[in-house]
Parts: sequence; structure tokens; C-alpha cells
Amino acid sequence: MSERDDPARALLGHLKSLRAAGVRYVALGAPSGVQAPLSQPSPAAAPRQPAVSQAASPGKPAAPPAREPSAQLGLLPAAEEPAPASPWLSAARKSGGFVPPPLPFDPKAEMTIDDLDRAVEGCLRCKLGGGRTNLVFGVGNPRADLVFVGEAPGADEDAQGIPFVGRAGQMLTRMIENVLEIPRKEVYICNIIKCRPPENRNPEPDEIACCEPYLHKQLAILRPKLIVALGKFAAQWLLGTKIPIGKIRGKFGRYQGIPCLATYHPAYLLRNPRDKRVVLQDLLLAKAVYHGQAEPQIEIFG
Ligand code: URA
Repeated sequence: MSERDDPARALLGHLKSLRAAGVRYVALGAPSGVQAPLSQPSPAAAPRQPAVSQAASPGKPAAPPAREPSAQLGLLPAAEEPAPASPWLSAARKSGGFVPPPLPFDPKAEMTIDDLDRAVEGCLRCKLGGGRTNLVFGVGNPRADLVFVGEAPGADEDAQGIPFVGRAGQMLTRMIENVLEIPRKEVYICNIIKCRPPENRNPEPDEIACCEPYLHKQLAILRPKLIVALGKFAAQWLLGTKIPIGKIRGKFGRYQGIPCLATYHPAYLLRNPRDKRVVLQDLLLAKAVYHGQAEPQIEIFG
């Protein structure tokens, strides 16, 4: 069978020629009006499940039509990433000579949160991409004043493509709705890492280095009034510190100039219910800042 008759072989040939030309990243996903070339795409390449489609996700407005193919190709050299110097990237470079693949969007471009979601949905920049069911980008109000940032998706989130939907997610929903008294769909919820690490292991430096520009851009677009960092990993990343979570919880730092409060992760609270008491204090502080009734006292300078 010739390449003309076999779409899979034709696609492979096309990708090989792109690689030979020096291209190291191609965003997945069919542009509007174009059928996907393979009838059985890999899980990583598959379009989102209906449960996570833009229209079906709580708080997400319906997606505008897909953009032109040229805008979907991410061919920017990694050197053009304007994200702050990353200790994770340095660590990954030192340990294995890691070079981050180009980003699937222009970090300097003006874009909406839905533009960014579509740009990254086929991401295979790190080794987590090939093992996921769904990339878990984020969910909620694109104009949210309050953003919650967790660590990485677990099994339930991977299955549904929505952050914080498992047991820890139900705890987070109670924290938002019962303590802060804000409907969950009014806030925005995301993670540092967008794909599930196998067996829920800790993310590795190269995975963090690949994923962190996405959160950086997400928060640059959302520009909320307040960020709440859930757990050690998110708190240390956002606040640029290695201070243990037990010492920074209940304190504010800044990320991109935005006040950011560290607190315990809801999964930790499931294991340590006694600490709900201190998280309640943290959330009441967040509530006061959110409503403009208190000024955040910045104590962490990462
Ligand atoms: N834990 C996280 O940090 N994020 C999720 O989305 C789910 C569990």
C-alpha cells in the first residue's frame, strides 16, 4: 500500500520530515473542518471526553471555534520563554542535560484562558503526557478573583479531565462553599502539573520544568485578586521557597505580584482531620482579603 492510501504511514512520513527539518514539537488536535487522520488516536492525542468539554465543565464558557492550524503549531524555541528563572529547569538540566521542548504557544501573546487551554491540550512535552487519559488544565470562572492551585491530578481527575473531583476535591469544594461561602464555579481551580504522575508519585524536575510555564501563563491571564496555594508543593513553588509547609501555612507571599496564601492540601486534611482547625483560620483570612475586609500581610519573600 502506498503512503497516499495509508493515512497512518503518510502521517508518520510527514512527522519524520518535520523532525528532519528540526521541528521537535507539534501540537495535537484537528483544526476546524479537518478530520483527525487516525480513527483510533492514542489516549494522549484523543479529544477531551464529553465530561470535560468546554461547554460541559462547570464555570467554563463554551469554546469558540478552533483557530487556524498555523496558530496551533508550537514551534517557539525554548529560549524565548519569558517565565522566571526556574530552579526545576536548572535541576533537570544538571541531572540529565534536559532541554525543554518548545512551548505550544507564544508566551508573550495576548490570549484568553480558553486559547491557552486549546494550545496545551495535546501537550507531549514531558513523559507524563503519553500516560494520561486527559490533560487537566483547570476549571472555573475565567474572571475569578480567587484561584486555588494544587499539585497534580490524581486518578479521578485524570479520568474526568477536571481538577479536584475526587475525595480531596470534595473536601476542597466544602472549604470553598461552606467556609468561604463562594460557589465553586465562581473561583478558578488548577494544578501546577497538568498530567497525572504514575501511581501519584511526586512530579520530577523535568516534568515540573515542562509544565510550569502553563501555570505561569494561566495566572498571568487570570490575574486574580488572591491565590490560595494548597499544600507543600504548590506553596513552595508559588512562593519560591523551600520553607516547610508547616511554617508557611497561614502566611502570604506574592506570585506575579498577586497575594498568595499558603495552606494545607485537602488530601492532607483527610489524613489529619485535626488540622482542619488551622485551615479554617487560613480560609477565614482568605475570605477577608477576598472581600476587601483585610489587607494581606506579606511575610514570605521567596
Ligand atoms: N490533588 C491535587 O493536588 N490536585 C488535584 O486535582 C487532585 C488532587
